[in-house]
Amino acid sequence: MSFDYDLFVIGGGSGGVRAARVAAAGGAKVALAEEDRYGGTCVIRGCVPKKLMVFASEYSGMVEDAQAYGWDIQPGAFDWGAFKGKLEAELDRLEGIYRNLLKNSGVESFDARAKLLDAHTVELSDGSRKSAKHILIATGGRPIVPEFPGSDLAITSNDIFHLEKLPESILIVGGGYIACEFAGIMNGLGVKTTQYYRGAQILRGFDDEARGLVSEEMCQSGIDLHLGTNVIEMTSEGDKIRVKATNGDEALFDQVMYATGRAPNADDLGLEDLGIERGRKGEIVVDKYSQTGMPSVYAIGDVTDRVNLTPVAIREGMAFVETVFNGNPTSPDHDLIPTAIFTQPEMGTVGLSEEEAAKQEPIEVYATSFKPMQQAFAGRAQRVLMKLIVSKASRKVLGCHIVAPGAGEMIQLAGIAVKMGATKEDFDRTVAVHPTMSEELVTMKTPVRTA
Ligand code: NDP
Repeated sequence: MSFDYDLFVIGGGSGGVRAARVAAAGGAKVALAEEDRYGGTCVIRGCVPKKLMVFASEYSGMVEDAQAYGWDIQPGAFDWGAFKGKLEAELDRLEGIYRNLLKNSGVESFDARAKLLDAHTVELSDGSRKSAKHILIATGGRPIVPEFPGSDLAITSNDIFHLEKLPESILIVGGGYIACEFAGIMNGLGVKTTQYYRGAQILRGFDDEARGLVSEEMCQSGIDLHLGTNVIEMTSEGDKIRVKATNGDEALFDQVMYATGRAPNADDLGLEDLGIERGRKGEIVVDKYSQTGMPSVYAIGDVTDRVNLTPVAIREGMAFVETVFNGNPTSPDHDLIPTAIFTQPEMGTVGLSEEEAAKQEPIEVYATSFKPMQQAFAGRAQRVLMKLIVSKASRKVLGCHIVAPGAGEMIQLAGIAVKMGATKEDFDRTVAVHPTMSEELVTMKTPVRTA
């Protein structure tokens, strides 16, 4: 049986684009359909614009620090319009790069929505049909807002980059990566920022001591964080939003941003008609090779709700190509993934939290929290945390948790050692780089506790 293509990819985000061009580079005839902008969540409405906003928001504090270092400079106003213009131009540039990457590797792209008709056929929104030996679904995810009275007044992280003007006040709801990162961003840009989180402490699932410090520092920096608090109802009042909260508070905000989780984009893809299984959150169920129950159909990235991170989607895409086109069955490695949360201060983490590790085996905990030199000199009270969780039996470092400016950069490197199975003694025999914050990772001599 002959097909139009060897591979048809649905979705032009990080995972889909990588799989398409690597397969094409290996000689496969590949097409890709994208209904929105190329680059997907990460490039267009996620990691990239978010990180640029983090950078923008950090300059306010830098001016004060510079003054403390003797610079005669004064803080000025932040020009949202100027920043937004540059941000949009940068995203246009990056989208162009993604389109070119596909074109230059010989992938035919369709600016259209695609859905599956049968095991080997997709139908595009213009009604045309394409057949392919393999179909890869890489349609990502989207933010979701729970239903409650007035929930339609909320914006999500998708909208925040498009605001015409910066609000004077914002309420951010949620306690995960996105809520905490945007609380820091908005606060840094001078927006009066309130955050509601329904649980006892933000960043559930991460190391307790690390998230405790992030939370403390977020409050110190001026974010009005309410734990154990949720929204009951929202009503519009002039150009503001009145919010009634479970803690009895009632307040007006210019904007309310919900960051209460994301859902896989797996609706209206024709999966039900083909009998392709979906999980509890609507994700596409795949095996360790990213294959669905329909042998010619695979899925990678956030639509499978495994580990929802760009570099993981890329790895899953590469493993798919290796498995299907290079005859080398490869399952993506989801173990010991380093990750950073770009809160202010940042948190970098790899491996097990103290709480998870202690449930698993006897451990030693090495941790130090201190005021870093650069910020202490500028008179800031800010503290950082360096923490290692060590197996008593194997001496392996089971987890590394850093809360500090630049923690994302640090954890990438510490992540190599942890992934290699480094022991505490391997860390100890590494000479300190002095004076740095991260040198503490190799100079902690005595456990602060055992469990
Ligand atoms: P998360 O799942 O991380 O967090 C959702 C938050 O919303 C949790 O605090 C959750 O509370 C809360 N919540 C859920 N439902 C409700 C509700 N009905 N009412 C009130 N609060 C609610 O989702 P995010 O949207 O923050 O991020 C999605 C994913 O995107 C992340 O898991 C991550 O994989 C990825 N991401 C990664 C980034 C990075 O690498 N730096 C940055 C941004 C996103 P509870 O804890 O009680 O469940």
